[in-house]
Amino acid sequence: MVNHERLRRYLKQFATFNDNRDDHGVTRLGYTLQERQAHAFFSREMSKLGAQVYSDNAGNTIAEFAGTRSTAPALACGSHLDSVEHAGRFDGVAGVIAAMEIAHIRASETETAWNHPLKIVVFATEEGARFGQACVGSRIAARLHTSESLSQLSDATGISAFRAMQELGLNPNDLAAAQWQPHEWKAFIELHIEQGPSLDKSGFDAGIVSTISGSTRLSFTFTGVASHSGGTPMRIRRDALAGAAEFLVAAEEYALQRAPLDFLDPGLRITTGQLSVEPGGITTIPGVCTLSVDIRGVVDTVQQECAHDLMNLAHRIANHRQLECTCHHVSEVLPEHLSADVQQVLHDAAHVCGTRVCTMVSGASHDAQIIQRICPSGIVFIPSLNGGVSHSPHELSRVSDLATGVKILYSALRKLDTLQDCGG
Ligand SMILES: [Zn+2]
Repeated sequence: MVNHERLRRYLKQFATFNDNRDDHGVTRLGYTLQERQAHAFFSREMSKLGAQVYSDNAGNTIAEFAGTRSTAPALACGSHLDSVEHAGRFDGVAGVIAAMEIAHIRASETETAWNHPLKIVVFATEEGARFGQACVGSRIAARLHTSESLSQLSDATGISAFRAMQELGLNPNDLAAAQWQPHEWKAFIELHIEQGPSLDKSGFDAGIVSTISGSTRLSFTFTGVASHSGGTPMRIRRDALAGAAEFLVAAEEYALQRAPLDFLDPGLRITTGQLSVEPGGITTIPGVCTLSVDIRGVVDTVQQECAHDLMNLAHRIANHRQLECTCHHVSEVLPEHLSADVQQVLHDAAHVCGTRVCTMVSGASHDAQIIQRICPSGIVFIPSLNGGVSHSPHELSRVSDLATGVKILYSALRKLDTLQDCGG
């Protein structure tokens, strides 16, 4: 039923839409020509199968296949085609190709017709790589963006998402038609690579995602006294970086003490990815140290309690070292739980297909968590190889695992097609 050769061909084809001149992976940032070229290829392939294809002003592209009940809400599946810089060939693309394969299977069917319309969706600008925010296209669909908020997102060169969209011929002043109406959508399922090692390590064929990790971002500033490195005795120093370093190690210990033994549950994760020191001279004791903390959690109360505990910890360490410490909340997104009904349908589908699946948590964000605000949504993960590496040219998944994911996806959509609609 699933055509492995076609999956392979599409993987190869999408990798050619690449802005990367140094032959190091694939670069196809959101709202760029390369992303639009990939969407155009998708459109052509789906049109050949008889779909009605359109791109809206968010840059999302939707291929629609009619069902026997024209007024029924749509069943949808898909993912994204943009990438980070120097990415691999699978992130997002795997889910789009899987959804395209569903369309091919549907087109080849001669028996039982689908009751509901089937929509294959490609979201624009899912990666936060260019504008610092993930899921821009799906956020527009979920009414989480206005033309004003799109003007406020800007890339490293100062170009706003609003302007980038205009330059591609999209009209970010007119988003109405790009905003999805809940009554028009029955369910959305996204297939995605895991982007972690758990499935490959545990030998499961696929994972059904229950929860998407939340993220609380904090910024800490430790302030001490900048002074001469030769002239200032150790015992009277007020070294801002030494205080920050003690805090980082204590924060790591905090997360390690709470780390679950089950590797399908990522638990609490604490990361400092940015740190700056002032004045930054080799012969000057650091006077100011500013650092970021990213807390990822699966349970909202645990995530919030962690933020609170880390602030207390920073103040205790600062007091002890006679430093000043300030902290502010940069942003907070709580963990999202995907539709229990869609999860059940996916588990049943996996059982019907004879595949071994587990329930798991997603560490990264995905379009499906945004679309969950519009209609019941689900995510199927397929194994990532090479230690689960992603956002890297070394990203790898097996075509046979992708095919297994397609079977689960197909069986789940077929099941949903037989279920009564809300209010129907
Ligand atoms: Zn992705």
